[in-house]
Order: sequence, then C-alpha cells, then structure tokens
Amino acid sequence: MAIARSTDYRRIATEEGWITPEMMRMYLRILETKSIVDPGFYSLWGFFGTSQSERARLLFERIQDIGERRIADMEAAGIDMQLLMLTSPGVQIFDPETATALSISTNDTVAQAIRDRPDRYAGLAAIPPHAPQAAAKELERAVRQLGLKGGLINSHTQGTYLDDPHYWDIFAAAEALDVPIYLHPNTPPPQMIEPFLSRTLDAAIYGFAVETGLHALRLIVSGLFDRFPRLQIVLGHLGEGLPYWLSRVDFMHGGIVRANRSPGVRALQRRPSDYLRENFHYTTSGMAWEPPISYVQRVIGHDRVLYAMDYPYQYVPEEVAAMDALPLDAMQKRAFFQTNAERLFRL
Ligand code: CA
Repeated sequence: MAIARSTDYRRIATEEGWITPEMMRMYLRILETKSIVDPGFYSLWGFFGTSQSERARLLFERIQDIGERRIADMEAAGIDMQLLMLTSPGVQIFDPETATALSISTNDTVAQAIRDRPDRYAGLAAIPPHAPQAAAKELERAVRQLGLKGGLINSHTQGTYLDDPHYWDIFAAAEALDVPIYLHPNTPPPQMIEPFLSRTLDAAIYGFAVETGLHALRLIVSGLFDRFPRLQIVLGHLGEGLPYWLSRVDFMHGGIVRANRSPGVRALQRRPSDYLRENFHYTTSGMAWEPPISYVQRVIGHDRVLYAMDYPYQYVPEEVAAMDALPLDAMQKRAFFQTNAERLFRL
C-alpha cells in the first residue's frame, strides 16, 4: 500500500525518540563500567548501544539525529511533524544534580533543532523527577522560554513512582502551565524485572506496558487527579493495555474502598475509568493495528486518541498507509492525525 502524498490532514507523530550524542556516550560508559544497578538498562541499551545487528545499528544512528537525516525518514513515511522526546530512561538513571543539568542541556538542544525546523519538529521537556522542585522549575523554563509543549517522564525513577506526593510539585507546575505530562515507558525496575529477563519480555514487547500501566494506575488510586483535576497525562501504546481494564478496575477498586481493605487506597471523587477518560490521552505508538485503535476510540473517545509512530524504534513507513486506511470519517481522521495533537500540545 503506497503512502498518500496529498491528504487533507497533516500527519503529526507524537511519541518520537531522540538522544544527544553526549548522552549516548554516557550510556555507553555505564555499560562499560556497570556503574548503576538497573538490569533493564543493561538489557535495553546493551542491545541498542552495542549490538552489531542491523536493527540496533540503524536505531543507534537514527536516534542521535534531529536534523536532516530524520527529516528524510519522515519524508519517506509521509510524516509532517514529530513531537520529540528524550528516549528512555533519559535523565532518570543519573543522580539528581546530573539529571537536572542534563535536562537543561538537552532541552536547549532540542529547542534549537525546533527553531531550525519549526515546520517539522516540536518537543517535550526532559525533567528530573527525583529533584522535584528543579523539575518544576525546568518545566516552566522549557515551556515559557523554549516553547516546548509539556513534560516527559520515562516512568519509574530508580524504582520510585510519581504517586508519592514528594513528586507533586511537578504536577502542580504542569497544571498551572496547562501542559501535559507524557508518561513514557521505562524497563521494569530491579524489584519487578526478574521474571521478564530470561525470555526478553522486559522492554517494548511487554514489560514496558506492565510497568507503565501500573504507574498510571498508581497515579489514579493515589488521588492525584482529585488534587489536580485539570492535569493531563499522555500514555503511549494505546494506554499500555489499560483501556481494556476499565470495568474491572472500577469494580475491584470500589470493592477495595468499601471494605476499607488497605491504607494505601482511598475513596476517590470519580471512578478510576472516569480519570482514564478525562485526565489521559492515548497515542498509538508501536500499535499500528486497527482493532485496538478502534476499540480505544470507542471506549475513550475520538478526541483523546492521537497518532504516533515510535520512531526510530518502530520505523515502518508501510504502517502509515494502514493508519490512513482506518475506518474513520474525514473529521475523525483529521482529529486522529492532526487536530487532537494541535489542541493537546498547542502546536
Ligand atoms: Ca517510545
């Protein structure tokens, strides 16, 4: 199937990974020195950073380019614009000071690439969750001064989760700035990853969805969205499986609350599924298959499902033609590829 060159919508891809050569060198140094304890990092970047396979080599080259090479790939796939985000695990494996400095420098770098090609690129801000006040400050700088469109968090930070109020300065800043936080996957943390590893199920094949879906549910049941009712979180991969769980989570959460079963679970103002419908948006990164896309559009709503490719991890131009062929009317298709992204990220 050929990719249509002339459409009445712009194709905006909303979960597209990049990294600076400097940070890639830092990753390679960690692989050599084994200086952190994170089996998921060694599994993911041990492969993409050092494997001589074609898949790894191409990704290694592509992910470090936010210039003309990437634009040529976009051109070949019919992608008009990419929303760039620092690839996983980003700054979050470093100590808080290093992570803060890297957030600032990488945000400056991506902002320059966007200034060079504002027709082609927009971006989200890397922030250091484990320095919450610095993260809030950098989110504000990146949005107000650099023109970035929201914050990026690569799920857990060294095994900790954002439902802890320790982190909530970040959400206060996002809500005040009226920008979304993209909760992108990370490999499962050490306390979770063991049974995934021997069958290489730890990353995009499944472990990402398990870990990030859990993270999103932790945010919901913690009461985060009662505290910040306008906050918007973006999930990739069609919501990491959560739209399939709407009724069961509501039923079980209600039972847990009524039985007063756990001090970690409290009554919420709305049902868990209400937050998943009103405080989340969903991108199709890596899930270019009609049945689950149509399902999420049906149970969540056409206004909250956005196109994403997941470049360069899943650079498959033919999938764009399959997305063009989704059973949508003209307005729904424009929302899917273009206007939902323009509204959410204020492009
Ligand atoms: Ca991704």
